[in-house]
Amino acid sequence: MTGQHHIEIDTSKPHPARMYDWYLGGKDNYPVDEEMGRQMLALDPRVPVMARVNRAFMHRATRWLAGQGVRQFLDIGTGIPTEPNLHQVAQRVAPDARVVYCDNDPIVLAHAAALLRSTPQGMTEYLQADVRDPAAIIDGAKKVLDLDRPVALSLIALLHFVSDTDGAHELVNRLLAELPSGSYLMMTHATGDFTPEESAAATEKLKAAGITLALRSRTEFTHFFDGLELVDPGVVVVPDWHPELGEPVPGQDDGVIPGYGAVGRKP
Ligand code: SAH
Repeated sequence: MTGQHHIEIDTSKPHPARMYDWYLGGKDNYPVDEEMGRQMLALDPRVPVMARVNRAFMHRATRWLAGQGVRQFLDIGTGIPTEPNLHQVAQRVAPDARVVYCDNDPIVLAHAAALLRSTPQGMTEYLQADVRDPAAIIDGAKKVLDLDRPVALSLIALLHFVSDTDGAHELVNRLLAELPSGSYLMMTHATGDFTPEESAAATEKLKAAGITLALRSRTEFTHFFDGLELVDPGVVVVPDWHPELGEPVPGQDDGVIPGYGAVGRKP
């Protein structure tokens, strides 16, 4: 993060990062975000649980990857800092881990200082960029990460905000193409597979507020891992991915959580 940024926060319409912060009980959200958050809750009261479930997956997958020897992480769609952040989880296992964070919402930039408190042995960086501009992300990431060594690409609860028109699958392929063999993709994604009516209603409401929600089926989610080797247990609903690696896993008493998670390795 370099130079002076003029940070403009638009509080006239809801933003996913701020709604997510509201679900998590954070303070960095506005009345418009809470209002839309409550409408989502009215459709499925488990929405805040889903936010915690995604966070907890990020913790477990990061711990697992650091345990495999991965020392570099590129996290796109970071969200408003919420402890523990990815670098804190990774650096607890490997103090020399390097993490590049990236989000397109200026509210995350405004709070990025919390993401930059690295261990002395490691390094963290924050990029304000859009996942739809992978070249800019790779350029920025290169300043901190050695792209000749494995990188874990982390896309947690991000790509359901990117439509097929914007090329969600192609974007992931383009990012992975820049990473060497032994790199990983860790990812979660919301789905309408289990609650089709509520999901359609949520998509409509968000669309009216200017937010794209692109829920995907299990098959569509699995396609993000084309060309990768899925790590055991493969594609599962998010709480079922290695629950033994974490703190008590949220969402286990809430029926089927409508989101998929997986980790894959680039051969
Ligand atoms: N990964 C975090 C936050 C998920 S909320 C977690 O799991 O806890 C989704 C995040 O993606 C938000 O912070 C939002 O601002 C960001 N986002 C949405 N569309 C994006 C895009 N096109 N490019 C980059 N970030 C995006």
